[in-house]
Amino acid sequence: MLGRMMHEALLVSGLIKHAARFHSDTAIVSVNTTGGVERSTWAEVERHARKLASALRKLGLTDGDRCATIAWNNRRHLEIYFGVSGGGMVCHTINPRLAPENLIYIVNDAADRVMFIDATFVPAVAKLRPHLKNLEHVVLMGPHDQAAADQIDGLLFFDELVASGDDDYTWPPLEETTPSSLCYTSGTTGHPKGVLYTHRSTVLHSLGGNTPDGMGLSARDIVLPVVPMFHVNAWGVPYIAAMQGASLVLPGPQLDGDSLARLIDAERVTIALGVPTIWMGLLASLRKGVGTAASMTRTIVGGSALPPSMIPAFRDEFGVELIHAWGMTETSPLGTLNHPKAKHADLSPAEMAKLRRVQGRPPFGVDLRIVDASGQILPNDGVTTGELQIKGHWIVDTYFGSETNPLTMDGWFDTGDIAVISPDGYMEIKDRSKDVIKSGGEWISSVELENIAIAHPAVANAAAVAARHPKWDERPIIIVVLASGQTLTEAEILAWYSDKVPSWQVPDRAIFVEALPLGGTGKVLKTKLRDDYGHILMD
Ligand code: AMP
Repeated sequence: MLGRMMHEALLVSGLIKHAARFHSDTAIVSVNTTGGVERSTWAEVERHARKLASALRKLGLTDGDRCATIAWNNRRHLEIYFGVSGGGMVCHTINPRLAPENLIYIVNDAADRVMFIDATFVPAVAKLRPHLKNLEHVVLMGPHDQAAADQIDGLLFFDELVASGDDDYTWPPLEETTPSSLCYTSGTTGHPKGVLYTHRSTVLHSLGGNTPDGMGLSARDIVLPVVPMFHVNAWGVPYIAAMQGASLVLPGPQLDGDSLARLIDAERVTIALGVPTIWMGLLASLRKGVGTAASMTRTIVGGSALPPSMIPAFRDEFGVELIHAWGMTETSPLGTLNHPKAKHADLSPAEMAKLRRVQGRPPFGVDLRIVDASGQILPNDGVTTGELQIKGHWIVDTYFGSETNPLTMDGWFDTGDIAVISPDGYMEIKDRSKDVIKSGGEWISSVELENIAIAHPAVANAAAVAARHPKWDERPIIIVVLASGQTLTEAEILAWYSDKVPSWQVPDRAIFVEALPLGGTGKVLKTKLRDDYGHILMD
């Protein structure tokens, strides 16, 4: 034998063991569902997680059994992440804002045996319970609560369950390809599909996604994941934070701008992560003088396109750098992040702004390409638009419980996004293929029309969608939310487009609304907008 290196399985329990050993007193701050802030540490989280794993085994759960959560970002949810996966079971996070029929479908499809819920969701779960056919235990994430127990038969209590676990339980050795967590896609068409992550894919995502050109979290960071723990594992932040020994601030249910601004200042948050709509709310609050965000150096923004005008707003007014990222449930989710290269040091401010607005470069561990409708590979020339495909260590191979192969013949996953890739490797999403507006056979990017509207000083938010048209099949319309105290006419906002896009791309109508409809993960529901306004050019 020539010699050999150790082979250690890549396990989620390895992450939490590391945090407890080397970052034992690092703070985990948690805003409770019922109000109030609770302080814990990585050592405490690890101890509770281990006891929870032991308690679940005593309840009769075995390897691979699914345990659902319907919960906010809080300390107990973090303990469930590590306890369930570390103990060899599968942590299935569920979006609480799903329609009841989708929720029932997902819980039954996953065959969840246990469900952990926050107090907020007791009435909803009490109603759904008779339809959840495999569910044996519902656990309220808190201490004993008689009022809740009266609503759900046999309700268990998290704190009592953890107390019943063994102190000397040790994390089991597992194969690294064992499933660790499960997340369903938002499924705007057809049934949602489950993506089953493994210990290996989770640890590799944490290593590959957290380089300096990735998320770049460190033991010096106080991290605020506003992105929900039910949205692709909070983009992997819980695992990355444990791996790095970063401090976590878990914001609970209050995600409005004012609450976040106060929390950021009170806990001296250095980095936050979330979808653009969240940062629009925060920006409005900071501009009102609610909080300063003085401790915060950067945020990672993804989930939908970051309006470029927000980048200078945060940087110049509050000293916060926005880092644009792209990913999806099927990609764990990190696919790209936007950091410049050394060669960009001398770019003019305008050139730098142009570079920073796009979705960014893939970290080592994932590969990207664009193809045309026949699957032909297209050049990375920064101009050619194609369907974005991805492959790598943390990309879906087969959906949960499915026999069909979702990949191309040569093993790539088709994202459903339309993108360009520059010669430097920077990817820019032009649109979601189902959101692109097809006017007389020409494509118009809804993202571009939105970015232009949002850059208007009187506009707080905007969404462009296709409306049916008797002559052109589809024409763009723009749905606009005004910033507080601002006025603007339809003619004024349409005139704003005149020097920014070719005239045939200018929306036909602008419609002013109080708020845009948002899905559970904070993304604008374009399907709803198309239902509500898709007919207005036909009337
Ligand atoms: P989900 O699986 O629900 O997280 O949705 C993934 C989809 O969100 C992607 O396929 C994109 O269409 C969209 N998305 C995510 N991040 C971005 C981004 N930074 N810019 C534009 N679209 C994004």
